[in-house]
Amino acid sequence: MENVISIQQLTHRFGDREALKDLSYEVMQGEVFALLGPNGAGKTTTIRLLNGLYTPAQGSIRVLGMDPGSHGGEIRRQTGVLTETNALYERLTARENLRFFGTLYGLPESVLLKKIDEVLSFFALEARADDRVDTYSKGMKQRLALARALLTEPRILFLDEPTSSLDPESALQVHELIESIRQNDGHTVFLCTHRLEEAERLADRVAILNSGKLLALGTLDELKKKYNPGLWVEVKLMEPLKGKITGNTCRGLLKVEQSAVQLKVQVEEEDAIPALVTALVGQNARILGVEQQRVTLEDIYFKLQENAREGAK
Ligand code: ATP
Repeated sequence: MENVISIQQLTHRFGDREALKDLSYEVMQGEVFALLGPNGAGKTTTIRLLNGLYTPAQGSIRVLGMDPGSHGGEIRRQTGVLTETNALYERLTARENLRFFGTLYGLPESVLLKKIDEVLSFFALEARADDRVDTYSKGMKQRLALARALLTEPRILFLDEPTSSLDPESALQVHELIESIRQNDGHTVFLCTHRLEEAERLADRVAILNSGKLLALGTLDELKKKYNPGLWVEVKLMEPLKGKITGNTCRGLLKVEQSAVQLKVQVEEEDAIPALVTALVGQNARILGVEQQRVTLEDIYFKLQENAREGAK
């Protein structure tokens, strides 16, 4: 598979502060790649570097085979960006916004008019297409901003925190749209987010960034195998347990959260579960059910933070 973004030993500084530290990774054609990290991790800086708006202190960047330093304009013509501030003209209607940006991007009138109808329909904005944007909800504005970013059929779509200001319902709509954009057209999506569930839902691969450093990179399955954050098991009881379950009563336990008739136990591996049940039966527990929870990106993320803290000790 062809790479559409290649970053090698990239370092970027603002004054003495290193915002990105010696990063190397590639993004492959057609994948949804999530750059995940807390505020200040370096996500927006990365998007700006990829679009040629900053020049890196060290290292090399290629986007669609081009150097953003010398070919920023060409890269911006072939890609689409959606930032947190959607940069729409509030006093214009949706149709007028799309027409304005389409003309700016150099689309011929006949192509543009057809494309505008297509994106308005895809983003379910037809009924309000001739209303001013300042009458739109945040979710509608974000859908329109996505429509604008897709006007030119970009080869890469950069999304910087696309749902951070949206309520859960609008965020869900945007997630569904990103999924269908991807299924329809095979776009490559470079998604920056601090939302774990967003990255988990949308991304084929995730890069976890913290303070400008890459902590981990891979598919969810690869990250699970590599960092083994442990499994959570939920045990439902008929009546409260008399004693306590701890690492001393049962091997392979990482954490126990015990409430009246429910236990949440984190174990190292699946094979610790029978031993847990045996230990509970040994304490005369009346067990109603034992359920293994799915390992989530959140589990991996917290495990990585824990590893980073231990490494720093
Ligand atoms: P957020 O989600 O808060 O936008 P982010 O992951 O996008 O976070 P960046 O905006 O890329 O993070 O910032 C990375 C680091 O670089 C931060 O420490 C930030 O303070 C610093 N930084 C970003 N832009 C500038 C700038 N123009 N001048 C100085 N420092 C900057």
